[in-house]
Amino acid sequence: MRKTFVAAALLLFALASHAQTTDALWSDLTAGNARFVEGNLDYSALRQLRNATAGGQSPQTSILSCADSRVPAELIFNRSIGELFVVRTAGNVDDTFNIASLEYAAEHGWTKMIIVMGHSECGAVKASMTAPRPGEPTPALYELIQRIRKSFKTPPRDLREAIIMNIEYTAEQLAKNPHLKDVPIVKAYYDIATGKVERIP
Ligand SMILES: [Zn+2]
Repeated sequence: MRKTFVAAALLLFALASHAQTTDALWSDLTAGNARFVEGNLDYSALRQLRNATAGGQSPQTSILSCADSRVPAELIFNRSIGELFVVRTAGNVDDTFNIASLEYAAEHGWTKMIIVMGHSECGAVKASMTAPRPGEPTPALYELIQRIRKSFKTPPRDLREAIIMNIEYTAEQLAKNPHLKDVPIVKAYYDIATGKVERIP
């Protein structure tokens, strides 16, 4: 009984400190995003960071984001060399090799948080709102569209809802991965017009 109590208390403590780390990391990134929104970026330490990280990296945040040219993760959070481990693929979906990249980050122990970040006007999600003909527009794009459509548990009412469903589905897949189980996953929506990132509950 006592053992169970101690184990439960330890688990609660671990969960609470996890949440604290996640919130602290997120609030730092939010401050960087505010500078980006203002167009007030600070990259004065580029050379020092390049020197400091030449021997190894230990970025605390990993991001799975879209390949869209309007979604440059480092700029959006005013982060620089060695600070973010970024995996980008059209439609920010999970697939074998981008999961492998995130597992690499988790196995090294430096990743304390994974952000799955979708964005407004995502072309991949937009294309997925209509059922494609088999194998079109190309076999690989057909697979991507099918994967995004899998995240639509109910027919999305609009593009934003579709984008959020896709973010949630990707985050669910990562959460099920036993190699990523110790890393909290945060969901985020980036607005390409305002530059703001919002955390999705
Ligand atoms: Zn996109």
